[in-house]
Amino acid sequence: MRAAKLEPGDWVDGFLFVANRAILDFLNTKPVLVEGPTELLPDVHALERWLTASGIVQSAKMKTLLRSWRHSPEAASFLKDLIAFRERLRAEVLRIERGLTPSEEFVRLVNAGLVQHPAASVLREGGGRIVREPLLDLKEPSDLWALFFDGAADLLSEPESRRIRKCEACVVHFFDSSKKGSRRWCSMNICGNKLKVAAYQRRRRATR
Ligand SMILES: [Zn+2]
Repeated sequence: MRAAKLEPGDWVDGFLFVANRAILDFLNTKPVLVEGPTELLPDVHALERWLTASGIVQSAKMKTLLRSWRHSPEAASFLKDLIAFRERLRAEVLRIERGLTPSEEFVRLVNAGLVQHPAASVLREGGGRIVREPLLDLKEPSDLWALFFDGAADLLSEPESRRIRKCEACVVHFFDSSKKGSRRWCSMNICGNKLKVAAYQRRRRATR
């Protein structure tokens, strides 16, 4: 699962897109803001906005369909399960970040999901190269599972798992796609500068 047409390092429509992996951007929909841990997906409408902001949903047809789910009990029930899945995924990502392999139980869960909700994809020309994008064929809310199981499967099988990392200053996770592999923060704007200022102040205090 890849977010299309977005530069990392920014908020889009109130959501954070700094992770280089849409599945990690999804994990980051519960950041700790000034007012504390904040659920950015409190309802189906918010999920609809996230799917659009991430670039996953682009066609007018899909947007119209998503809009029609705003008050659907099936969509509300899907979202509840999706949030539970997000928190299980978080536990697994924390394991990966500690250098552990994902739990067998979670691998089984994702495998079952992959079978039940197989993800279709399509190739298209993008920026002078061929990119592979999920082909969303939505009929009902649970069809969205394909995206999330596919993204989770990619993450669990990531060969460069050491590049899956948590920001040193907050709860945001990201995939470090920098050349050197030395990225430490969710974003220079959000945490990088904050830490640099703190380090500068410490140094200044020390030299006084
Ligand atoms: Zn951060």
